[in-house]
Amino acid sequence: MPPAHDSVRTPLARLCNYVGGEFVATSARFADINPVDGSVHAEACEAGPDLVDRAVEAGREALGGGWGRLPAEDRSRLLRRVAARMTERFDEFVAAEVADTGKPASLARTLDVPRGIANFEVFADLLRAAGGECFETSTADGRGALNYTLRKPLGVVAVICPWNLPLLLLSWKVAPAMAAGNAVVVKPSEETPASATLLAEVMHEVGVPPGAFNLLHGFGPGSTGELLTRHDGIDAITFTGESGTGRAIMRAAADSVKPLSFELGGKNAAIVFADADFAAAVEGVARSAFANCGQVCLCTERVYVERRIFDRFVAALAARARALLPGLPNDPGTSLGPLISANHREKVLSYYTLGRKEGASVVTGGGVPQFGDPRDGGSWIEPTVWTGLAETARCVKEEIFGPVCHVAPFDDEDEAIGLANDSRYGLAAALWTTDLSRAHRLAGRLAAGIVWVNTWFLRDLRTPFGGIRLSGIGREGGMHSLNFYSAPTTVCIKL
Ligand code: NAD
Repeated sequence: MPPAHDSVRTPLARLCNYVGGEFVATSARFADINPVDGSVHAEACEAGPDLVDRAVEAGREALGGGWGRLPAEDRSRLLRRVAARMTERFDEFVAAEVADTGKPASLARTLDVPRGIANFEVFADLLRAAGGECFETSTADGRGALNYTLRKPLGVVAVICPWNLPLLLLSWKVAPAMAAGNAVVVKPSEETPASATLLAEVMHEVGVPPGAFNLLHGFGPGSTGELLTRHDGIDAITFTGESGTGRAIMRAAADSVKPLSFELGGKNAAIVFADADFAAAVEGVARSAFANCGQVCLCTERVYVERRIFDRFVAALAARARALLPGLPNDPGTSLGPLISANHREKVLSYYTLGRKEGASVVTGGGVPQFGDPRDGGSWIEPTVWTGLAETARCVKEEIFGPVCHVAPFDDEDEAIGLANDSRYGLAAALWTTDLSRAHRLAGRLAAGIVWVNTWFLRDLRTPFGGIRLSGIGREGGMHSLNFYSAPTTVCIKL
């Protein structure tokens, strides 16, 4: 079925909302800006209060209608069809991600889009494999009782997402929420509305019942996002974004006591021991600091290096940073994209200024590259390596979310663990060592939701994912996701 709105492939597309199985335009529009050169490549239709109400109502109707009656095997098949259709439209998804974020097409091709597809495949399979619980209980009369649980959906789930890995993070929530039988109302970031709109097209094309998947475009505070979080008809909220936004959503959700799943910010540490494979550690830390221009919640912003190899490591990491090639997304040599927006660049540059004030030695970077071409209208920034900051400096404590890391020396394991754990965040940490006992010993002492040893970002999608402290509430991934998006009912039968 052809979509009832402009495709994101046209030069200036109009990105519509998708509510109750229909594409809906609104008169309030906002620009979708390409951060490579600051040009407007699409405009999105902002959803106001009436459309938010309609989307929530459409979700309720879907739960009481075709979607709610669909057996789990059929839901699983439908999610597989979503993945298959996304695969057919792979290049369009890559183009949408690239147009919104400016990231290298090679990254969208190897990370964002394949993971977006895998999210639907993994949860389609998991749904078929997931069993229930059953217990026999003894009773005084000797006849006993049988207890089993039914897995039911929570209802209409609001899915609110950030801009850094738009399709990957959105599908990470939509797939399990729909697998568990919920209707979803999805709000992508206002910075990245394109791939979510393509996903709505795919949902439409493969015959997802109207109202099971709804998409609303808009902003956060005072706009679509806040309207959703305060809505009485929303049964649960799953959110990925800044810790401060998490706070605001928690307050908004408090009145109706909505279940929350939060994947929030990080200030992640890497610890590099002198016994590490030096080249692998440099490469791994560089990737973890600069991938996606440092705009991944799991990126390393604090690096602790054993003093014996400190100087050599800093020099090698800085050389790696200097070798990154900021280029047009489709140039094969490009290894660095721009930041997401001019506003975000202002924020990161304010930390570059603050770092200097706080006493950082700028080993490399610290500024804005000049190209002498249209890229000068974009949001580019130099990858940066600092040393010399006090551990109390704001630049060591606060999430910056750009291509910048601070490197500091340590002398022994206890000191390294103390430094790494001295954070209000607790999302991820990485250990670089060839000593297996040390790796096991320290992995258990790191205060983080995930600890990598001699790698970064790698993860089986069935494992729990999430953070502690300011980094989030709850875990998603595999059965942890299905459990969050389900409301089990226990049935107890006297035999
Ligand atoms: P953000 O919190 O500014 O925005 C995220 C989403 O929330 C957007 O869709 C936005 O419109 C919406 N929003 C903002 N204020 C809102 C409000 N008051 N009510 C309802 N919705 C609101 O985050 P961002 O700048 O888009 O993304 C970057 C942040 O996301 C970083 O802090 C990063 O660490 C975090 N992040 C975390 C993970 C994780 O898995 N832990 C993954 C990716 C990004």
